[in-house]
Amino acid sequence: MSTDTLLPINIGGELRLGGGDEYASLYPATGEAVARLRAPSLADVDEAITRADHAFRTSGWAQRKPHERAAVLNRVASIIRERGEALAQRQRLDNGKPINETRNLVSSAAATFQFFASACETLEETITPSRGDFMTMSVYEPMGVVAAITPWNSPIASEAQKVAPALAAGNAVVIKPAEVTPLMALELAAICEEAGIPKGMLSVLPGRGSVIGDAITKHPLVKRVSFTGGTATGKHIAHIAAEKMMPVSLELGGKSATMVLADADLDHAVNGVLYGIFSSSGESCIAGSRLFVARALYAEFMDRLSTKAAALRVGDPADERTQMGPLITAKHRESIEKYVELGLSEGATIRTGGVRPKGTAFDRGYFYRPTILEGVNNSDQICQQEIFGPVLVAMPFDDEASLIEQANDSVYALAAGVWTRDYKKAWALGRAVQAGTVWINTYKQFSISTPFGGWRDSGLGREKGRLGILQYMEQKSLYWGLNEKPLAWAN
Ligand code: NAD
Repeated sequence: MSTDTLLPINIGGELRLGGGDEYASLYPATGEAVARLRAPSLADVDEAITRADHAFRTSGWAQRKPHERAAVLNRVASIIRERGEALAQRQRLDNGKPINETRNLVSSAAATFQFFASACETLEETITPSRGDFMTMSVYEPMGVVAAITPWNSPIASEAQKVAPALAAGNAVVIKPAEVTPLMALELAAICEEAGIPKGMLSVLPGRGSVIGDAITKHPLVKRVSFTGGTATGKHIAHIAAEKMMPVSLELGGKSATMVLADADLDHAVNGVLYGIFSSSGESCIAGSRLFVARALYAEFMDRLSTKAAALRVGDPADERTQMGPLITAKHRESIEKYVELGLSEGATIRTGGVRPKGTAFDRGYFYRPTILEGVNNSDQICQQEIFGPVLVAMPFDDEASLIEQANDSVYALAAGVWTRDYKKAWALGRAVQAGTVWINTYKQFSISTPFGGWRDSGLGREKGRLGILQYMEQKSLYWGLNEKPLAWAN
């Protein structure tokens, strides 16, 4: 990819340089620039949203029959699949994830468009029971311009999760990808236009969240924000939304508890816990980052877990065998190192990791070894704060009552994992733990047909699922008068 020329961004369907500051998107494995671009200016933001509103009202997209919109969304899915390998390689450069992971993200983006094509085509509006001389219907309308604000950890999949249902519902969409990962949203918008989404219905405005994201959220023509990112940012957006009386959905942070009971199948549990925390280098909202293991099993389990963690293949994201790539930025790695220091100051000990890998292959990238901390209490800051990196805190537990209490003792409630052979215990724990998603004898598995979201500081609202399309629609009740005579009151 050439960095000699500046990459245009998508302002209301027009590809041109932004009017803001120039910056480079860096490959986290080497720190080299993979693209240079200019962020949008505030005037660009206003222009993109004004054009989106115009396109929403005049392009006819919202008026197309659901099966016609579905045909376009299915074309988007086909193009993503045709270009899958190129997109996966570009995404690897965009955020440094191992190629096997980016391939999965790309294919999940295609599946998301296909799924919401079906949701659009099969969405039913209802005739409700009438209580008078009228017929009543409940119908859905698109909202207008909606904003999709996404983080850097799973670009094309996060964007598809918002853009596909929003377009399926008939809206125009302004995408605000994370500043450090601008490439995939630009690709996705280009593919959507190629597939037949009218010009102007999609814009891509990468840039600083506190400036560009904030301006998008506050813009009066933006009728909904679908946000994925940190809890502090989510709360800020919720305040703005309250002022505008604008609906929002917020997919936020997590500190998810994984619980290994004494009767768990060790091979399954060790692999599941490792995958849950260390895949994506732990840069995952649903990372199983707080581990509770039955005391009777603790020593054996931790021996096996830490031996396998130490042997994970950290390295070149282009290598098919790599399990953990670099972290997103040098600054993010520093924040993870500070968390490990914080843990140590609270009395934690390092079971494995806690350092950067050594060797010339790691000199320029932002790598960090898989790290397990022990000797912690659930109330410690290291157990309560989201680290968003490859750091697991591990604790033994004595009985299930104290386990549930500790698992639920967190401001976050995004996900949880339970490992046990006893289906009754799995049922009891699965119901008692407070979380948007609970995995039983598996972890971090996903299905687009299953709703996803968090409780408490982990978020508001749900994405995915057949009804995920309704987030992007307003509900309307229609009353059809059938009375033969005028309303009696005025007689
Ligand atoms: P972030 O909150 O810093 O940024 C997310 C997005 O919001 C970016 O595009 C950013 O530019 C934008 N933004 C920042 N400030 C803004 C503002 N004032 N107004 C509007 N937009 C603004 O988060 P991040 O560091 O990019 O991502 C990591 C966080 O995202 C973690 O907390 C992680 O748990 C969370 N996350 C949650 C989910 C989920 O589905 N629950 C998925 C992935 C990541």
